[in-house]
Amino acid sequence: MAAILSPFLTSSSYERLAELDLKHVWHPFTQMKQYNEEPPLIIARGEGVRLYDMHGRAYYDGFSSVWLNVHGHNVPELNKAITDQLQLIAHSTLLGMANVPSIELAAQLAELSPRGLTKVFYSDSGAAGVEIALKMAFQYWHNNGVRGKSSFITMKDAYHGDTIGAVSVGNIGLYHDVFRPLLFHSHTVPYPNGYRNPLGPEHAMADTLEALERVLREHSSEIAALIVEPIVQGASGIIVMPAGCLSAIAALCRQYDVLLIADEVATGFGRTGRMFACEHESVTPDLMVVGKGLTGGYLPVAATLATEQIYNAFYADYEEQKTFFHGHSFTGNPVGCAVALESLRLLQARSLVESVDAKGSLVASRLAPLLNRPHVGDIRHQGLMLGIELVANTHTKEPYHWNERIGLRVARRARELGLLTRPLGNVIVLIPPLASTDSELMDMADMLSEAIIDVTERGWKR
Ligand SMILES: *Cc1c(COP(=O)(O)O)cnc(C)c1O
Repeated sequence: MAAILSPFLTSSSYERLAELDLKHVWHPFTQMKQYNEEPPLIIARGEGVRLYDMHGRAYYDGFSSVWLNVHGHNVPELNKAITDQLQLIAHSTLLGMANVPSIELAAQLAELSPRGLTKVFYSDSGAAGVEIALKMAFQYWHNNGVRGKSSFITMKDAYHGDTIGAVSVGNIGLYHDVFRPLLFHSHTVPYPNGYRNPLGPEHAMADTLEALERVLREHSSEIAALIVEPIVQGASGIIVMPAGCLSAIAALCRQYDVLLIADEVATGFGRTGRMFACEHESVTPDLMVVGKGLTGGYLPVAATLATEQIYNAFYADYEEQKTFFHGHSFTGNPVGCAVALESLRLLQARSLVESVDAKGSLVASRLAPLLNRPHVGDIRHQGLMLGIELVANTHTKEPYHWNERIGLRVARRARELGLLTRPLGNVIVLIPPLASTDSELMDMADMLSEAIIDVTERGWKR
């Protein structure tokens, strides 16, 4: 693939930018001391499912730039939606007034979402969308005159974003433990993890449902809502729920009068093979959070969708003070909404969601021979969310020690081979753009397989 570089991207400007990056940029989820040990990867542009660094080297975007990208990069239709909107207006507020693309997008989202989710509240990140859902659920009960329903149920190893409310319903020790003193208390029930269940995969679902029913029986009068990553728990290592589990969780919530919040930030917009993961089990949550792929991965727009029932609890005479007092400077940004609309149009025009199951199975079967290797414990996938769990010993399932940085080393090797991804601890992820072709997906799977074998068996060290 020929490198097309802008004339100003010379290697001397690489040196300059690398130095400034080191001097001024504090990167997210990154140990800067380790980051600073080698020259940074600086992406200059993207085209299709590939990213190009400043030296013109191509890499597959094997993790959709952290699970965002849908149609690839530099997509003419998406670019045009942005520049067209810019000719009209870049931003105006939704506080007490409206703008054109945010109305059109809300109508589209209501049409595409599980039946009953008709109201759209915008924000600008998944974490903010989760905060909004938590606050809406809490205030819903308050506005209805129900007192005491002020805590939440979350799932073990859940990830819902990095703001304090989202972290309070998060459950990943490495990220969250240090902040415990700042957090509100949540009840935790296990996510059904078949590979790690001590009694075997067939017990995972029953364990979850039993634990949930116990918490609900004892505490439902104190609980506003349960929040769940439906069908696939992402950041904990791509854990896939057994069939029937989500609908059983939803039924228990109904039975005990606890709201259900579906965090579809990672799973939404076709990623798991349905427009939304809840559709796999015909579940309509009371609140649904979307983000990441909403704009095709182009701009920061997120949304919290609510049912009429939730909305109506806030719909009252002004003096009753039932208003939802929450908003952000960029709520309903017109440029973001315009590109989201175009992304949804492309998703439908190209039947992308319908192609995801077949693409996911193709990649999974290409990766399947890895299961015979001595350090590949499990390969999980739902649609185009794939996780490969590496273990020190496949018989005992003993994990690699954290200090071995096995995931980081595999990702480093994959990058040398031409594929970018970011591990979740010892789980290697492949979450490619939905628009990836079969041959691109095969290439990605092969690079990943080679990287895993090089690091776990051939002692590859950078
Ligand atoms: C990424 C993610 C979030 C947080 O979204 P941000 O836009 O990064 O704040 C929340 N929930 C899930 C399931 C996610 O994968």
